[in-house]
Amino acid sequence: MALPSRTDTDGLPQPLKVSRRPDGFPDDAPRPCGLYVRSGLSLEIPPRSSVRSENKCMQACALFTPAPVDSNPLRCGDYPDPEPAACEVLVRVNACGVCRTDLHVTEGELEQRKSPIVPGHQVVGIVERCGPGATRFAPGARVGVPWLHHTDGVCPYCRSGRENLCEKAVFTGWMVDGGYAEYVAAHQDFVYALPESATDLHLAPLLCAGIIGFRTLRVSGIERGGALGMYGFGAAAHVAIQVARYWDIRVYAFTRDARHRSLAMDLGAQWAGDSFDEPPEKLDAAMIFAPAGELVIAALKVLKRGGTVALGGIHMSPIPPLDYDLLYHERVVRSVANNTRRDGEDFLKLAAEIPIHTEVQEFPLADANSALNALKHDAVRGAAVLRVR
Ligand SMILES: [Zn+2]
Ligand SMILES: [Zn+2]
Repeated sequence: MALPSRTDTDGLPQPLKVSRRPDGFPDDAPRPCGLYVRSGLSLEIPPRSSVRSENKCMQACALFTPAPVDSNPLRCGDYPDPEPAACEVLVRVNACGVCRTDLHVTEGELEQRKSPIVPGHQVVGIVERCGPGATRFAPGARVGVPWLHHTDGVCPYCRSGRENLCEKAVFTGWMVDGGYAEYVAAHQDFVYALPESATDLHLAPLLCAGIIGFRTLRVSGIERGGALGMYGFGAAAHVAIQVARYWDIRVYAFTRDARHRSLAMDLGAQWAGDSFDEPPEKLDAAMIFAPAGELVIAALKVLKRGGTVALGGIHMSPIPPLDYDLLYHERVVRSVANNTRRDGEDFLKLAAEIPIHTEVQEFPLADANSALNALKHDAVRGAAVLRVR
C-alpha cells in the first residue's frame, strides 16, 4: 500500500512520497522468493548468509490469507529484504513482541490491507542503514519500531496533538510489513530511541502493550490513590499495573485465567477475581484489554458514579444492550485508538524510571504461529516475544 502523499502547496511540510508496487514491496525490491508453509516444528530455514548473498532475501513469517491461527496461517521462509525509502531506516530485528492486534490481523478481524503482510509492531533492533534523507539515527543505534508507521502530519487531528486519530495513518504489520522478520523498514520520525537498561526481549512488549496500556491509563482518568479495575491480564495489563502501583493506585484484576490472576497478585494487585466477580470496593475507573464486549457491562456494574471504562483493544465483540441505569450518573465508556508519539516517549521515559520489568515468554521467529496460538488460548504469562537473533 502506498504511503499517504501530500500534494498541497500551502507551506505545510511536504509529502513523504514512497513508491511501492501494488504488492507493497518497494519498486526496486525483488519479487517474493519462495515462501513456504511451515508445518510442524521441523522446518529447516536456509542459513541467512546464503539466502542473502544469492537472492537478497531474509527470513520472515508472512500472512497471505487470514485464517484461524489454529491452522497456522503464517508462512515462514524467504522474503525479499525491505529497502529503506526516503527518510526511512532499515532495522535489523533482534526481537519482536507478539500483540493481540497481530492475532486480529492474522484471523481477519481487522480487514486485510496488504497481502502478503509481515505482522509485528513491537520491534527492537539495530539501525542497519539509512534511506535517502534519513539522518536522525546512525547505523548501530538501538531503536524500537512501533504500530504507528506514519501519519500525514497535516490533518486537523495531527495538528491538534491527536495523530493517533489521523485518517491517513499507516500502521506497521497491517498496512506495511512489520517485525516478524529479520529486517523491517520504518520512518525515522516514528521510531523510538530506546533506553539502555533492558534487554531486547524485555523491551519489545513495551512498544505496544506498554504504550497502549499507558494511554489507556491516561484516558481512564484514574488518579493517584484511586481504585482501578483491569479486565484481561495479558501483556498490556501486566505492564500497566506496574505504572499504576507506582502511582499508588489500588488495582483489581479480572480474568478468567488462574495463571493470569496469580501474575496479577505477584505484581501487586489488591485482589484478583474472575471476569464477572464483584471486587471488595467500587472502582473509580476500569480498563478492558480482553476483546469481549460483555466485559463492558461487567465493568459498569462495579464502577462508581462519574467513572470511566476505557477500552484498550482495537477489536471487540459486540457490546450487549445495557440498561441506562448502568451508564447514568455520568459514567463514561470510551475507546483508545492507537497512540501518539508523545505517549510513547512519555511512557518509555517512565518505564526506565520505575523501572518496569516485563515477564516474557520467548519463541523463535519460525514459531510465530505457535506464539499466536498461545496468545489466543491464554497460555502466555506476561508477553510473548519472538527472538529473531
Ligand atoms: Zn493526520
Ligand atoms: Zn499492538
